[in-house]
Amino acid sequence: MRRMLIIGGGLAAGAAAETLRKEGFDGEVVIVSAEPHAPYQRPPLSKGYLGGAEGEDAVLLHPAAWYAEQGIELRTGVAATTLDPAEHAVELADGTTVGYDAVLLATGARPRTLPLPGHELPGVVTLRTLDDSDALAARLREGGRRLVVIGAGWIGMEVAATARGLGNEVAILERDDVPLSAALGTRMGEVFRALHLDHGVDLRTSVGVDRIVGSDRAEGVVVDGEMLPADLVLIGVGAVPDTRLAETAGLDIDNGILTDASLRSSAPDVYAAGDVANPFHPVLSRRLRSEHWANARSAGRVAARSMLGIPASLDGIPYFYTDQYDLGMELSGYAPLMAEAEVVVRGDVDAREFIAFWMNAGRVVAGMNVNVWNVNKGVQALIRSGRSIDPAKLRDEDVPLDALAA
Ligand code: FAD
Repeated sequence: MRRMLIIGGGLAAGAAAETLRKEGFDGEVVIVSAEPHAPYQRPPLSKGYLGGAEGEDAVLLHPAAWYAEQGIELRTGVAATTLDPAEHAVELADGTTVGYDAVLLATGARPRTLPLPGHELPGVVTLRTLDDSDALAARLREGGRRLVVIGAGWIGMEVAATARGLGNEVAILERDDVPLSAALGTRMGEVFRALHLDHGVDLRTSVGVDRIVGSDRAEGVVVDGEMLPADLVLIGVGAVPDTRLAETAGLDIDNGILTDASLRSSAPDVYAAGDVANPFHPVLSRRLRSEHWANARSAGRVAARSMLGIPASLDGIPYFYTDQYDLGMELSGYAPLMAEAEVVVRGDVDAREFIAFWMNAGRVVAGMNVNVWNVNKGVQALIRSGRSIDPAKLRDEDVPLDALAA
């Protein structure tokens, strides 16, 4: 019987397993995950699940019984240690070997570390896993703690918002001049600065963190010579693709596992999907590694089809969302094209109810809707159309987006 092996316990892994069965594959499906949980999604870990508004059912992709019903073997709590593409075999940390006809590497990403003095003290944490979120929740849910977040990226900003909602004091320390400016540019980054300042966060930009101090646990962060007291320090300075298993197989790696648009790696019958993959994007004609929920889901589906020999290609427009306080946002577009783009706004930025469009050579390359809903499909249609658009019409709320894309 043919065996499809999936390494990883995140959304890409879960979506791939689901798709294998939906496409009618009736051979063996085995998922191997280093974490002790059934496959799960991470966005709630910094938002509703961390804050207590959502339970584990919002995190797990399926209850454990679903895997049994689908005839999917779930091996949790055990890491794959080596992959031998010539032998079509993966060795696990428990000493067993699993053979495969095709294997998917969906090993995700790991939080980037910051080798500051004091970073190993208890109370200095990162957030990636369900267990990380539980540990953070245990400290934040009572309220009244002082949280210092190092790095004003998406995860740091989301945790800050949740922690404020739970009644904690929060400071965010950021090296850049404007939070999220690397992702959004300065004008839109300022929207998020104002949001956090309005909610009482001590947000400091253009600062340098010297060290974390404490005797037997973190008690403060020294920033530009000033000591900021802290009960808890969250390091949120990005993630790196977890290519350790791929390295054992000698796969081609450069900022993730290199794949073609069908998510095939450089070794036969070895595929990669989600945060760990750096696929060639056929529309953009360049590599595009994405660290977002929607990408992990689409990539898991595409990889499963490719593993079955069904033609499939990861060619969608990247999509991302965030929720912080009362701000909800969706962003669709091509990050590499946003840096040089001009931002055109429809709506009211000060009221935080608007759509921002990034325009490059007259064309929309990205769009972000903030507290405006049911428009992201229209934004994507505009991007996909590749049409030259009059910025005045983009600004005009009376002109439907669909009409501009048609
Ligand atoms: P992961 O979810 O990282 O899963 C990889 C899994 O593989 C892990 O369980 C890991 O333990 C396992 N693994 C690794 N190596 C091995 C091995 N050798 N053997 C066995 N198992 C292994 N995106 C959004 O678009 N919007 C959001 O609001 C958002 N919020 C987020 C909040 C948080 C706190 C985090 C951490 C991420 C968030 N993201 C968000 C990003 C999104 O969750 C990721 O893009 C997504 O999790 C990637 O899924 P994945 O399956 O590729 O990898």
